[in-house]
Amino acid sequence: MRVVVIGGSAAGLMCALVLARGGHDVVIVERDDLAPAADVEAAAAAAFRAAAPQVVQPHVVLATFREILRERLPDVYEGILAAGAVEASLVSQMPPGITDRAPRPGDERLTFLFSRRATVDWVLARAAAAEPGVEVRYGTPVTGLVADDGRPPRVRGVQTARGDLDADLVVDASGRRTALDRWLAPLGARRSDVTRAECGLAYYSRQYRVRDAALPGPLTTRTVVGLDEFVAGIWGGDNGSMQLALAPLASDRRFTAARDPAVFDAVLRTVPFCAPWMDLLEPTTALHVMGGLHNTLRRLVVDGEPVALGVHAVGDVVCTTNPTFARGLSLAARTVAALADVVAATPGDLRGQALAMDRVVARDVAPWYADQAVNDAAAAARLRHVVEGTPAPVESPSGRLDFGRLRAAAQTDATAFRALWRVMGMVGRPEEVYEDPALEERVREVLVAHPPVRPPQPTRDELEAALAGAPAARVPVVG
Ligand SMILES: Cc1cc2nc3c(=O)[nH]c(=O)nc-3n(C[C@H](O)[C@H](O)[C@H](O)COP(=O)(O)OP(=O)(O)OC[C@H]3O[C@@H](n4cnc5c(N)ncnc54)[C@H](O)[C@@H]3O)c2cc1C
Repeated sequence: MRVVVIGGSAAGLMCALVLARGGHDVVIVERDDLAPAADVEAAAAAAFRAAAPQVVQPHVVLATFREILRERLPDVYEGILAAGAVEASLVSQMPPGITDRAPRPGDERLTFLFSRRATVDWVLARAAAAEPGVEVRYGTPVTGLVADDGRPPRVRGVQTARGDLDADLVVDASGRRTALDRWLAPLGARRSDVTRAECGLAYYSRQYRVRDAALPGPLTTRTVVGLDEFVAGIWGGDNGSMQLALAPLASDRRFTAARDPAVFDAVLRTVPFCAPWMDLLEPTTALHVMGGLHNTLRRLVVDGEPVALGVHAVGDVVCTTNPTFARGLSLAARTVAALADVVAATPGDLRGQALAMDRVVARDVAPWYADQAVNDAAAAARLRHVVEGTPAPVESPSGRLDFGRLRAAAQTDATAFRALWRVMGMVGRPEEVYEDPALEERVREVLVAHPPVRPPQPTRDELEAALAGAPAARVPVVG
């Protein structure tokens, strides 16, 4: 079968490789010129693109992406390691409050992979370039779909700025700002069904190289903490790189000052877990700010009928979630793997394929969208209460297990920590984790014995002094 994949970023490249290795001829059509750079540092330096601004934002690779990559594209996984990405055990990520640090069966599945996103894409792009069944056309924006009339229409290819391309199957991997509904409209097709929920945050971030010095922690550190007025995070990367970010409410205008690197730096110095790193890091990129972050879920089957036949979606086209939870690549891999299986199982049955993909989205994607929507609504309400003085959110009095309680217990309890990363890494389904009575009981006991502690953080005066550009008081180095 001839498949056209729209978009040559993580989801599109994975999809093309998996389908090509399943025996199909695949053409990737990518709007930008993404021919792989000479090496990972050149790739990271050139990574910013308006069409995919998240590529320069901090990333970490969690369980499901790692697992699917190892299963479906093991050479690519090895290539990412060879390019300098670093695996880190689950135990290595435990906070100091956890004393039982013995490894347990199942931990291997929850291994973290530390890599800049540009490095992941660089390895995928090189693999695609070398794959006999994949042709990559860079600098070729898709402008529409070609279809046979029908209810629903049968998609037969894509329109591009350089002419039409025929296809037996079209896969939309064009990311969070897909024009799919605009392309479907002239075909007389129904719109896809998109659900949205507020994420609420904006990302201010920068990438760094670690100077050769005694470090305050391992390079494989991922610490992302919700403070009273913003989220702060530090993520290790490949090849001695670090990624730092501030994520305030997108509506918090005070943080526009943090577009100035000196202010960004000053704010991070007010955060005790970031401060010790600040003198040891040399910036390797500009400071990048990204707003417009939403949780979205797209279904291509509406009222039981596919909006069109011969067109599928993968990656961010299907679902985007709050980036601090690092689920995007895992969701992308899951949709790609499902598509490969569905196409292999029912090659000639386009309606059956569409319905099968939709069942996968309902079963294996939607629960994480819903989990995220609930968590983000609660987190945004807490931030707004502190920052904007809106009414205090009502915390659930029932003591029922939810993400917030699990995360709090995970500060001191190894079982809760494992459960947290099972749900974060999409290895455990949200309902399976939150509705486990034994875990619920354990979390209740842990939180009685160790009530959640407010993380060390700047006072409002210290934060606003940093945002105003005044020299921030240096926080003491602890430990
Ligand atoms: C701030 C931030 C931090 C994140 N951190 C993490 C993390 O730590 N871990 C994690 O797993 N995920 C993370 N994510 C999510 C992850 O980045 C996305 O899930 C991932 O980029 C999705 O890949 P994609 O290929 O679907 O889309 P994209 O990467 O957006 O790629 C879409 C591609 O389509 C191309 N394109 C668009 N329109 C057209 C067109 N008309 N014709 C041809 N080509 C087109 C674009 O140029 C682009 O190359 C983060 C996201 C954000 C926003």
